[in-house]
Amino acid sequence: MDAFIYTGLPARVIFGSGTTNQLAAETERLGITKALVLTTPPQAQQGETLAALLGDRAAGVFSQAAMHTPVDVTEAALQVYEDSGADGVVAIGGGSTIGLGKAIALRTDCPQIVLPTSYAGSEMTPIIGQTEDGRKTTQRTLKVLPETVIYDVDHTLTLPPLMTVTSGMNAIAHAVEALYAEEANPVLSLMAEDGIAKMSNALARVRQTPDDLGTRSDALYGAWLCAVCLGSGGVALHHKLCHVLGGSFDLPHAETHTIVLPHALAYNAPAIPDAMAALERATGSKTPAAALYDLARDGGAEMALKQLSMPEDGIDRAVEITLENPYFNPRPLEADTLRSLLRNAWEGRRPS
Ligand code: NAD
Repeated sequence: MDAFIYTGLPARVIFGSGTTNQLAAETERLGITKALVLTTPPQAQQGETLAALLGDRAAGVFSQAAMHTPVDVTEAALQVYEDSGADGVVAIGGGSTIGLGKAIALRTDCPQIVLPTSYAGSEMTPIIGQTEDGRKTTQRTLKVLPETVIYDVDHTLTLPPLMTVTSGMNAIAHAVEALYAEEANPVLSLMAEDGIAKMSNALARVRQTPDDLGTRSDALYGAWLCAVCLGSGGVALHHKLCHVLGGSFDLPHAETHTIVLPHALAYNAPAIPDAMAALERATGSKTPAAALYDLARDGGAEMALKQLSMPEDGIDRAVEITLENPYFNPRPLEADTLRSLLRNAWEGRRPS
């Protein structure tokens, strides 16, 4: 066994169907007397349902969470938090809502209970990205790691089919990179392989049976494993490219991950034999990069960056920005090979 470092993160996880019924008990456990419930506008009704469940322990519902955690939204939420006498937050939703809960915890150190409804994985990470004056800054601090995560499969049944696929691919990307990041270790590799297997298998089935609780349960369990990989592990070229593309061209988060992942993996494949063996087992394919491409395409996802309105001359700009401040990557980065990776992703070609 080679030497390694593994960092476990303190979080309590409650998983299953109907687990939302443990919400009130969890607030009590954490000493929360009044919880502000957070959602996006489309999920406001789910927030009201949770507030009703909390009864006297609810401080109200703030339903204005938005993509990329804008600081002005956080300030508005903080005002409501303070005025209502809240001493904790309950976030129900995807990465945007969870981001708002983290932003409030960053400023108040309050306890957070999170009920994830997408597969993005923010709930298991000590990472927060915030946007102010068009600039996104990211920081890592245990202050923002949610204390309790209630995974209730029932909340994922409403995830639209296309978002199920792109959000699932977003989760898989976290686990793929954990297999070959600088921080890779045997414990996370176990979780990564099983997370990819559970999620990719479920995504293939969910197209036929989107309401099947067993399939949705596998997907959410896979998403949790992949989220642990993001929170405790590291990332490499794929995440770097997605951060550059999202930040420079305002491309949508999960959709960009979906398109870039097969190409970033194909790029790194020659340098990561152990990770490729794990991915062959997880995907059941001798060509994992192509298998992930097929999985997303068959689920109806856009497979070309040009379909997300990325300009063609953005390819050269993205290469430049990536090389200015690169992340660790198992295969050295060169402008020409990076350019052809991004060209393939822009055109939507299937990796060979
Ligand atoms: P999102 O949270 O923006 O959700 C997209 C839309 O789908 C929202 O309107 C949301 O309300 C809706 N939605 C979510 N779940 C639903 C469901 N079950 N049924 C119906 N509608 C539902 O998107 P996301 O992909 O979950 O999160 C993306 C954001 O999270 C990005 O800003 C990204 O940077 C951030 N993120 C952060 C981390 C981290 O560690 N800090 C990790 C992953 C993602």
